[in-house]
Amino acid sequence: MSQSSPTQDNAATEHTATPDTDVIVLGAGFSGIYLIKRLLDKGLTVRAFDAASDVGGTWFWNRYPGARCDSDSSVYLYSPKFDPDLAADWRWSERYPSQPEILSYIQRAADDHGLREHITFNAPVTSAEFDNDQNLWTVTTADGQSATARFLVPAIGPLNKPNLPDIPGLDEYAGEWYHTARMPENLDLTGRRVAVIGNGATAVQIVPVAARSAEQVYQFQRSASHCLPGRNHELDEDDYAELDAHREEIWAKTRTNLGGFPYADPAGEAAELTPERQREVLEEAWAKGGLPMAFASFSDLLTSRESNQVALDFISEKIHAIVRDQRVADLLTPTTPFVSKRPPIEHGYYDAFNQDNVELVDLRATPIERITADGLVTADGTTYDVDLILFATGFDAFTGGFADLNIRGANGQLLHEKWAEHLSTYLGLSVNGYPNLFMVYCGPQGPAILTNGLTLIQQQGDWIVDCLAWLHDQHIERAEVTEAAEAEFTELHESVAAQTLIPSTQSWWTGTNIPGKATGLLSFCGGFPAYAGLCEAAADGYPAYELTTGTA
Ligand code: NAP
Repeated sequence: MSQSSPTQDNAATEHTATPDTDVIVLGAGFSGIYLIKRLLDKGLTVRAFDAASDVGGTWFWNRYPGARCDSDSSVYLYSPKFDPDLAADWRWSERYPSQPEILSYIQRAADDHGLREHITFNAPVTSAEFDNDQNLWTVTTADGQSATARFLVPAIGPLNKPNLPDIPGLDEYAGEWYHTARMPENLDLTGRRVAVIGNGATAVQIVPVAARSAEQVYQFQRSASHCLPGRNHELDEDDYAELDAHREEIWAKTRTNLGGFPYADPAGEAAELTPERQREVLEEAWAKGGLPMAFASFSDLLTSRESNQVALDFISEKIHAIVRDQRVADLLTPTTPFVSKRPPIEHGYYDAFNQDNVELVDLRATPIERITADGLVTADGTTYDVDLILFATGFDAFTGGFADLNIRGANGQLLHEKWAEHLSTYLGLSVNGYPNLFMVYCGPQGPAILTNGLTLIQQQGDWIVDCLAWLHDQHIERAEVTEAAEAEFTELHESVAAQTLIPSTQSWWTGTNIPGKATGLLSFCGGFPAYAGLCEAAADGYPAYELTTGTA
């Protein structure tokens, strides 16, 4: 990659129009709110649009029973850089914050800084077009509002487009049904017969909660998940004394851990450890609960089948110890490599199968054939009469959300159509042909799937804020990543992916959950520290970008 210096392109910029605002941010979830606040701090003007009626992003939309964060609350908040007061006095009540509490947090972050006045709510964006002569973006919403900006920052999250499978008969169903990302809050499940389709991180949170009050829960499973115990608990003053004493250390650890979590380094490659030490490492992680099993056990978990098998055997043993019916335990035992898809965090999921009112339906043996007025029918003719169907069937990740935005670049091509041909980006931040566009926490090939959300949101957010402030100060009207830089990063991403066990597993991580979607690992998996290092180097003069200075 060669260093590019700004060029004075008078022909292109002599008569450039003044945009309505410096930056348009799409989305008002954790990443959008972070960007809006930090860009305003830098003196840029910002306008944001969100389809929702309030801030919150994924936490606005996902209100299913049991919804809570899978990251430890100690790193599921903004660092002091966003707002030292908020960082100092916010108190999560549990180890993994619940959805309502997270929503209150984002609302407070927005309210404390008057951010709502910069956001237009109930405004789904239906197009964003780059004007090649004026070097600005025009954004249009479903109700016909439009605005222009020099820079466009999609902050739509990787999981904003629900995937509703095409199961015949749904229109005949007489009961109530929802996709889990579009269901009302506080839906009463008492005494109801509930079908939960899917068993990813969402369903794994719903099933034990539903099992407490529903008359019957049918859990429809196609492929088993690798669920890890959450060991959630309330946080008391002692917990906070400990946390407060180590805040800086905790944030520092997120910069060096593979997944951006505040965990110690892995114990080493599994083969370097004795079987006794391997066992000790896994037992410790299991006892701690949460994601240390994935990000702080064996350093070669994702690259060595043998190492991965040690973890898989351990998980299988644990499932068989919890679930009394060994036939059900067998079905719940995953065969795909551990962490080749997202390990859900469970709060009583496996235990729920010991209850009489919870039944596992094995869709490998008996796929769903159709939905009827009364419920579901599987291929062996068994009928499951239910009054509520919850589709916990996931999302058309990353690229799905972009298809709704209709982002048209400098050459007139729609971004999602470019990606349908071949997925390529520069660091998951920029795309050749789409000048002045920077994606935060939603760009394919960024490391979102394997990184704590708030670690990555703030790292990418800071990178973009610094970049836009610099471009603005330098009067640079157009910044476009070169084709060569994009190709080089994409090649790196693909070669790193090929060295891991991830691409062989079907899930949203590889795009294989959506019929017809181009497949390939959607997220960089070389580890957060390596990714952050690449970004840091990229910001040193922005050599990967062609920069054009305006006349202002
Ligand atoms: P998901 O992980 O994609 O799981 C979807 C489930 O639906 C899978 O079990 C899948 O089975 C099943 N499925 C899809 N289509 C189906 C069909 N036609 N018939 C039967 N089953 C079908 O989706 P998710 O559980 O919503 O989770 C998505 C991501 O959201 C997670 O990986 C995580 O990153 C995030 N999330 C985060 C939290 C948190 O931090 N609090 C909570 C929930 C979710 P197959 O596996 O066989 O395809």
